[in-house]
Amino acid sequence: MPTTPTLPTLQRILSRPGKVEEFSKWREEGDASGQTPPAEREDWPGWANPQFRMYDMTDGWGWRAIQAGLQRRRGGKWGIEDVDVHELHQRFVALPIGLVLMFNIDWFQGTKRGNHSVGAIYITICNNPRSKRFLAEETILNCVIPGPDEPSLEQLNFVLEPFVNDMRQLYYGVNFHIPDEPEPQPAHGYLYINASDLPASRKTSGLRGHTSKWFMCPLCHQPFHSLIHPDCYDSEKFRLREDWRYIKYAFLSRHANEYDHQEIRERRGVIWSALNILPDWLPSRDSPTDFMHAAYLGETKHVIQDILVGGGMFIKRRRGNKPLDKLECFLADIWWPSTIGRLPNNLATGGAGKADQWRNFTTVLVVALYSSWNVNGEIPDEDAPQFSQSTKAGEAHARVEALLHERRCTHAAYNVNSTPEEFDDIPKVAMDRNYRRHFNVVMEWCAAIRIWSSQSISVEEASRAHDCHARACQTWAQMNCHLTPYFHLLMHLTSSYLLRLGPIYSWWAYPYERNNGLLGRFKHNGHGGGELEATLMRGWTKMTLIHDLILHLEALGPNKTEEDEAAITALKKYLKGDRKTSSTRGTLLTMIATMAADQSDALVQLPRYKKKVNLRTLGLYALVFTHLRSLWEPTTYLIPDTSMAPLGEPFIATNVLSYSHPVQIDYVFHIIHSRKMPDAPALEMTCAIVRPFVVDEDVPEMPWNIRAVDLGLGVWHYGRLGAQIVVDVNAFSGHFALGSVMHCEMRLWVTMSLCHSTQEPDGLENDY
Ligand SMILES: [Zn+2]
Repeated sequence: MPTTPTLPTLQRILSRPGKVEEFSKWREEGDASGQTPPAEREDWPGWANPQFRMYDMTDGWGWRAIQAGLQRRRGGKWGIEDVDVHELHQRFVALPIGLVLMFNIDWFQGTKRGNHSVGAIYITICNNPRSKRFLAEETILNCVIPGPDEPSLEQLNFVLEPFVNDMRQLYYGVNFHIPDEPEPQPAHGYLYINASDLPASRKTSGLRGHTSKWFMCPLCHQPFHSLIHPDCYDSEKFRLREDWRYIKYAFLSRHANEYDHQEIRERRGVIWSALNILPDWLPSRDSPTDFMHAAYLGETKHVIQDILVGGGMFIKRRRGNKPLDKLECFLADIWWPSTIGRLPNNLATGGAGKADQWRNFTTVLVVALYSSWNVNGEIPDEDAPQFSQSTKAGEAHARVEALLHERRCTHAAYNVNSTPEEFDDIPKVAMDRNYRRHFNVVMEWCAAIRIWSSQSISVEEASRAHDCHARACQTWAQMNCHLTPYFHLLMHLTSSYLLRLGPIYSWWAYPYERNNGLLGRFKHNGHGGGELEATLMRGWTKMTLIHDLILHLEALGPNKTEEDEAAITALKKYLKGDRKTSSTRGTLLTMIATMAADQSDALVQLPRYKKKVNLRTLGLYALVFTHLRSLWEPTTYLIPDTSMAPLGEPFIATNVLSYSHPVQIDYVFHIIHSRKMPDAPALEMTCAIVRPFVVDEDVPEMPWNIRAVDLGLGVWHYGRLGAQIVVDVNAFSGHFALGSVMHCEMRLWVTMSLCHSTQEPDGLENDY
């Protein structure tokens, strides 16, 4: 099996110039390395202050609570316990180099044709700044798991063993050579979470799959058949499980005979995983539900394709009213920013769709439903028409109803309080197909998904998202809709994972999907017997080695020779060529770009193509001049270039750099004003000429108004823009998709915010 040994790879990363300091950049006041006890969970400021805002993993309560020096050994209530044997009482992240690690394991198609499933284990160093953490060259590809089939858990344990042994050794400290340090220095590593999709995550942790009857949820006792009941989405009703019980039975299962092994698996929901030898590793606590898979590929796809379309909410209505055509028209007419791809046709009615496409669908879904269903500006309080007899769609829906029927019977059978009448009523139950109720529940759910996925999130927002999601799922259950395990699992997101691990951005699976994409692109000849996997591993290693070489050459600074410079250019070109298919689109790349910009304070990236313009010929001189005069007032008194007045600096408006941009932003200018006094530094600013959208009392109330802020929706007069004004480009807060809808006879513009940095409203009044 092609493997990179973790410790030498880590040594290579630690040898990079400035790397050790970079690993400490997250430290704030009170985080200096030294003898510090681990933080108590109760000490986290978020518990007392709902406005406490988390920007990164380091802001969750878990980070500072990690304890160093624990040993997992026999003893205690569960037969196995973690003990601070040497009574170090040491906070892990307060060690000089205390690396918090997460890993991902996933399988993907290794060959274009045929079924050849290749697996990979990636390790991410969470101490890296957000802008670098998920770059391929900062990621350790621990091993490529040979196909063509996925290994069983027993086989997987052999795969995991070397990795787990390295992790264990690293937890207790390993000496590494650090640049500019004469003596080797100890570095420690702690495996924080398993950031994999649901099947891979359960498999590696030794937990039962999500379709298991009694162990659908590893955190609480809700059984699979309770998915039809509102209580399955009410966290106050959850009876939580004890992680240590899994540890106890996992250890018992380790050397058990076949019979006991099966018995433990069935009754205790766990089998042995190599991860269990790691001190402080707890299978369910440390296997968070991945939001990208759960919310986008899971819930969003299910809500649109199964509940709404599959449930017949787009069936043709009276008088040629075709909601599905309206939906497709609305989606086709949306204007998306150039960094965001359009939604593929027919995504609602079929097709797998990518996570980002589903994500974009959630931003426009509420308005899309309005556009498809509204009658005179209102969502009708009536049912969708019945399925016509023996259509494919009708038969598919009948199959779902039959499945739910069975699930309801099971649920009633296990419920001691069930009455005979309840059993009798089960066959009469059918999905509620009222437009207005579906609209309201989708609105509630979209708000939850949008709030949860913010790049930064406060404790109050995290619990608001939880409440919205709970209300939506409980309502769906009451409406007898078909729900999948993800709807229950996300009910644990806020309390069990988000508050401990920080915003989902810092631990979701987007980066690993991309890594698989990169890995899959390395050229190989498709040979079996592990040859293909070895080629992929070599490709990755080569890429990171080249990256290291570039860093070391660049670190030479002024000592670089001409050959060094040439080598750097050639190497960079080579790396780029390897990834030429990677685009600038998508959640992950946008995230990396904004985070890199956050760090350099360069919020605005101007395009490379520019030309110089004369503001006078554009008729914008007066507008820009007035803006600059008040902006630069503390520094200089600006006078027009036509002014005869001797006091002040005339503002020359020729040769202004201009960038063209579509729609509401008419121009973007970069203005450099050289000062009258020769030694005074030139004044510079980048501003935009914009025409604001128009809203007044004539714009009607829309059915989503109550959740407009949470959903990032704004309604404006169609085709009307205000007078041109000048704004500083740093005031731009994000971008949006633009669609149009009818309200009675009135056409309106709707802006649907695509800004994910915080959950603050994207006010368009003063903040562009
Ligand atoms: Zn649960």
